[in-house]
Amino acid sequence: MPNSIKNSTVQNSFADLPSAFYTRLSPQPLTQPRLLHANPDVAALLGWSPKVFNDPDFLDICSGSAPLPGGKTLAAVYSGHQFGVWAGQLGDGRAHLLGEVVALSGSWELQLKGSGRTPYSRMGDGRAVLRSSVREYLASEAMAGLGIPTTRALALVVSDDPVYRETVETAAIVTRVSPSFIRFGSFEHWSGSPDNLRALCNYVVDRFYPECRDAADGESVREQDVVLRFLRAVVERTARLMADWQTAGFCHGVMNTDNMSILGLTIDYGPYGFMDDFQVNHVCNHSDTQGRYAWNAQPSVANWNLYRLASALMGLDIPADALKNELGRFEAVFLQAYRGNLSRKLGLRQWEDGDDELFDDWWRLLHTQSADFTLCFRGLAGVPGQREPWLSGFEDQAAANAWLDRYMARLARDKRPDHERIEQMNRANPVYVLRNHLAEAAIQAAAQGDAGEINTLLGLLREPYVEKPGFEAYASAPPDWASRLEVSCSS
Ligand code: AMP
Ligand code: MG
Repeated sequence: MPNSIKNSTVQNSFADLPSAFYTRLSPQPLTQPRLLHANPDVAALLGWSPKVFNDPDFLDICSGSAPLPGGKTLAAVYSGHQFGVWAGQLGDGRAHLLGEVVALSGSWELQLKGSGRTPYSRMGDGRAVLRSSVREYLASEAMAGLGIPTTRALALVVSDDPVYRETVETAAIVTRVSPSFIRFGSFEHWSGSPDNLRALCNYVVDRFYPECRDAADGESVREQDVVLRFLRAVVERTARLMADWQTAGFCHGVMNTDNMSILGLTIDYGPYGFMDDFQVNHVCNHSDTQGRYAWNAQPSVANWNLYRLASALMGLDIPADALKNELGRFEAVFLQAYRGNLSRKLGLRQWEDGDDELFDDWWRLLHTQSADFTLCFRGLAGVPGQREPWLSGFEDQAAANAWLDRYMARLARDKRPDHERIEQMNRANPVYVLRNHLAEAAIQAAAQGDAGEINTLLGLLREPYVEKPGFEAYASAPPDWASRLEVSCSS
């Protein structure tokens, strides 16, 4: 196992794409950077022992002062639809791809975020503030702990360099890790340039969707069919991701097509939120005044975004009807995953006809009572034995009891041993969730140079289903001040 950075195998497959896809350049390092936190779980994916965190090279690389040995540093171009409107060219305006580490667990790209201006920065300063960097660092790992596909976070570096937002804040860089950072918007960017679009499709299919080329008879599959299969696979992954977000009470906040991973990963954590009190139309992004990316809109927005991806693929002369046919699979795949997730969370053997009504009424109950998402799910496992503790989460006890009666009748039909049901529910309903106020406390401490809260949260969130004695406060409903927290696009 290559325990040091220097012994790692580093490749640059993205840099082998035509030069129009990116600009080679160096990051703008932070002044006197400090390693605030580094993540042993992600280091392990790269084949690195946590000892590398003490290696001066590690801080140099993660602060933009030195390249990844063997890596070709670059910023990638992409385009996208933002809030439903074509925004034209965007790109890595404050991110630098360092290259990819080839490890036993796979090939992992390392990317700095907040590492300075690039040709794609537009009016931006190329920086990321500490607050949003801590949030991205924590959220990536919280999602991974929940088993939801996501980019990962390796390191969080801070500096006293000022960054000007509504107020003066301090700069930070997150080192993100993912098999790829390619977005729907990367394809949209090349919709009018068939050669580059084809190069991008081939690259993504060869590396991440090779099964799209499999033919039963050893013949090669026509390009058109490869692309259709590829779209199908992206539709499926995206639909399943949406089911995971919905049933985790996760709101992304900025589901623009440039923030949609072509691998079906959660990417670009900004003003996201894990819901405390459940509201079907919860909007976590303060800047989203229309509620375009509300919780209950996320699946249909993802579907809309997939239409934008498919439109871009028309640039390869693929008939619209054939593309539409693949897009049409979204709803069925979403529903299957969503029903499966909810069945596990409610302790059902499997989804049956009629359960949709029980599910809908569950959401209605939580919504009308503004009940706590996480506590209601987690507490439900203990209910057949004792109703009281769970019922205390609801103002209208009669309504909660009425739903419970139906739920108990449904469980009775399953004829399932209690211990088996409870075990399943406790593996599907987390105790610890990255609530806004927990992230906020970690940010406040980090601003004082103290990474203790980040460390504690990561410890809990990497195994969010396991109750840890002494950490009850992290599993409780938020304090009153939490409702005043606002997160916006400014980051
Ligand atoms: P986001 O909404 O954070 O996904 O960003 C949308 C686009 O704006 C992307 O192309 C980003 O690279 C770019 N961007 C966001 N913030 C900055 C910044 N501070 N400096 C330069 N570019 C930025
Ligand atoms: Mg983005």
